[in-house]
Amino acid sequence: MQEKANYCLNCPTKPCTIGCPLGNDIPRFIKKIKEENYKEAYKILLETTVLQPVCGRICPHMKQCRGKCVRGIKGEPVEIGELEAFVGDMAIKNKWDIPKVEEMSGKKIAVVGGGPAGLTAAAFLRRKGHEITIYEKHNELGGLLSHGIPEFRLPRNILKETMQKILNLGIDVKYNCSLGKDITLEELKKEYDAILLTIGANISAKMGIEGEELKGVYGGNELLENNNHPNYEGKIVVVNGGGNTAMDTSRTINKMGAKKVYVVYRRAREQMPAEQKEIDDAIKEGIEFLFQNNIVKIIGDKYVEKIECIKTELIKAEGETRLKPVNIEGSNYEIPVDYVVMAVGAKPEEEVLSSLNLKRNKWGYIETDENNRTSDEKVFCAGDISGETSTVAWAARSGRNAAENIDKYLEKEN
Ligand code: SF4
Repeated sequence: MQEKANYCLNCPTKPCTIGCPLGNDIPRFIKKIKEENYKEAYKILLETTVLQPVCGRICPHMKQCRGKCVRGIKGEPVEIGELEAFVGDMAIKNKWDIPKVEEMSGKKIAVVGGGPAGLTAAAFLRRKGHEITIYEKHNELGGLLSHGIPEFRLPRNILKETMQKILNLGIDVKYNCSLGKDITLEELKKEYDAILLTIGANISAKMGIEGEELKGVYGGNELLENNNHPNYEGKIVVVNGGGNTAMDTSRTINKMGAKKVYVVYRRAREQMPAEQKEIDDAIKEGIEFLFQNNIVKIIGDKYVEKIECIKTELIKAEGETRLKPVNIEGSNYEIPVDYVVMAVGAKPEEEVLSSLNLKRNKWGYIETDENNRTSDEKVFCAGDISGETSTVAWAARSGRNAAENIDKYLEKEN
């Protein structure tokens, strides 16, 4: 690891830090690794993040910090993710705690949702001396980290230890408690000084095409979240989408014994939102990518039997920055398949959202101002539920911002 750290130039302009959604001080923590002062490297990372072993492993680094690394201009960029995970793992191994704050503010905050945004917000708020309770709908914390990211990308013991460190700050958790079912927002408002909603967006979006209601069509998010898969052995599966959920779902299904897995994506490989490494790994594992293809129909009687695809061409429309896929007329063809998995985006649970009585924006998400505040002054929102960018590091940043804003609000209330 020393060699990897020494490769960093410690650029004073810190382009890597600018590329990091959390603003981690990358040159400074790498410098401490060079000096073999790992505990200090950990402390530097703690200024901005409590998820080092997680983000070090699963962030799309080439789209964030590593993609901005100066070393990448003429060669390979610094392995920033590996270095971050190295420090985070070392903190776990050596039981270096997140420093506790003993003096309490007397304020109580409920954080609803224990995913990356909720966990980060809880940790940063607790470090300000507030009493925190996380309300988690499952019997374990982590949100998409536990339910959406397969073990081969994020080992469960590492995740559990990372979350335990956060709880060791003195954070209470109420498990198996769903907002709108087991507890209402009104009840929380009576008990707490502020409420932060970080309930995520984990319902798979639909394409709205014919045949989507057939048996054998699944949502990628639900398959990963509930870990409740059909038997794929000997089956042909098509996964529709180009993001990390499409990669995680297709690779998981492939490892579970499917005969053939296709990924259908309507743009070209260069436009895929998934991390390049994930795509490379999926290809190496035998998954076939059908770039510039679109599913137009799912065909079957009761069950899926085949899909109808159409080829696309990419057109630069006036005023648009992104190439637009346009179906090529007459290029339709069919592929026999057993299962179709939709991984074309996710949205929050409508039932929960509508039970909250909070103002929504035009896309249906909870409307928030620049201080994460909703239409109810005691209620704040962070992460996917407010429609923010849905990578783990961005969710964590959103949680950290919300923590700062809630702290300011509570100070004013005093
Ligand atoms: Fe090191 Fe690359 Fe950041 Fe420069 S840009 S400080 S070389 S990680």
